[in-house]
Amino acid sequence: MQGKVWLVGAGPGDAGLLTLKGKEVLEKADVVVYDALVGQGVLGLIPDSAKAVYVGKRSGNHALPQMEINRVLLDEAGKGRRVVRLKGGDPFVFGRGGEELELLAEQDIPFEIVPGVTSAFAVPAYNGIPVTHRDFCSSVHIITGHRRSDHTYDIDFDALVRTKGTLVFLMGIAALPDICRGLLKAGMDKEMPAAVLEKGTTAAQRRILAPLGTLEEVCGREEIATPAIIVVGRVCGLSERFRWYEKKPLFGVKVAVTRPKELISELADMLRQKGAEVLELPAIRTEPVTDSEELDESIGRLGDGGYDWLVFTSPSGVRIFMERLFLRGDIRMLGGVRIAALGQGTKKVLARYGLKADFIPSVYDGETLGRELARILESGSRVLIPRAAVGNRELVEELERAEGVQITDLAAYHTLYTASQTVDTKEIIEKDEIDFAVFTSASTVKGFAESAGDTDFSRVKAVCIGKQTQAAAERIGMRTWTAEKATLESLTERLIEAAAEG
Ligand code: SAH
Repeated sequence: MQGKVWLVGAGPGDAGLLTLKGKEVLEKADVVVYDALVGQGVLGLIPDSAKAVYVGKRSGNHALPQMEINRVLLDEAGKGRRVVRLKGGDPFVFGRGGEELELLAEQDIPFEIVPGVTSAFAVPAYNGIPVTHRDFCSSVHIITGHRRSDHTYDIDFDALVRTKGTLVFLMGIAALPDICRGLLKAGMDKEMPAAVLEKGTTAAQRRILAPLGTLEEVCGREEIATPAIIVVGRVCGLSERFRWYEKKPLFGVKVAVTRPKELISELADMLRQKGAEVLELPAIRTEPVTDSEELDESIGRLGDGGYDWLVFTSPSGVRIFMERLFLRGDIRMLGGVRIAALGQGTKKVLARYGLKADFIPSVYDGETLGRELARILESGSRVLIPRAAVGNRELVEELERAEGVQITDLAAYHTLYTASQTVDTKEIIEKDEIDFAVFTSASTVKGFAESAGDTDFSRVKAVCIGKQTQAAAERIGMRTWTAEKATLESLTERLIEAAAEG
């Protein structure tokens, strides 16, 4: 098979600003080559099966030279791989996208371009600044503040001022004094509204607004964080009225979500809707048991009416059990059995198979499930529990109190710890790069801890579902908040409260 390269715009940071097409090719990639400006939320979408290659700047070190990046693309595609070259914003807007294609074109390597949402437009939008507005301007210009190798600028300030349009400078922070002076000297009104917009569309988004005449001075007093853009034009005056992003309840909060990959998106999306920047950092994954003889036997018995109750304790348990069942038969095998589910997540996955839970406990933990289910079991009931190989003891202990109950506690899957290829958990903890981590089971706490290795977990603020999850987080020293109910909604509310506490 011939390899191919997709040059994909990752957008300015917020993972929601990656295009549908970008997401689709990313999910099918064999190799992903990315640099520093790609948002961590987007990096979280790189499949585990893909090789992720970082070619950006490392603290202190330089980025890989362009020629070498081109080589990596060529080599990987030459091996027949599907290569995604991920770049911040749009790859053709000051992204050197063109340079990366030259070698590929020369060597006849097929490629496609997936445009992205450029920071030049999206960052103003997230700050309530429309880059054009009929009442104020009739053009918008994107300019680089980068100097040429002889240290001079290639900017015609007189021409820019004459356009009367909105000016957006990328890579312009080092050149800010020169840009301000250049525009003023070319005759721009010193009262012209202007803005410096830092780290747009992320939790660290910040804006400095000042008239052009004082922008340099105001920025001189503050430390400007990069990446940042400079916007000059009357539209900047609309920002205070149209600002919206920072009004969201979780704006400014960066959250690591640790659920397994196949379950992560629902919670991640809920938190993003509330304005959080979400880092998807699955800490566990589930794998069906390799020796499935016992499981298959039980499924056979189930089909013959050998069980009265089927108890599921997790969404993964349902998924893995049903997949196995469908290898043998179909949904009719469950005809006579009643079903218990530990909580709402499990119930939702059951619904996907057209199944309703006959019983859900009042509190979503193993102990309560066992105790409350034991009360309604008829004498001699036969109960099948397909669940994690290492499951919670109390569930079975409580169930055994019911009279004559026969319990088959079956290992259906293993829970394995997993770590991200692109994000160093230890580093994000030590550099305080996340405000909170969210845990929905004790195993996610353990997986997260394992991926970080030896570090000071008291720096981590953990928002948890369930007592056992909280206990696991406290045991390693995390500060904890626990959701009132074991639902994602309740978890989100608790996070909003925790964030408000500061
Ligand atoms: N291709 C990119 C731009 C690359 S040049 C795009 O279309 O967005 C890099 C410059 O982009 C940075 O110096 C900064 O000026 C700007 N930039 C990129 N992401 C940004 C962000 N999230 N917030 C503010 N500026 C950003």
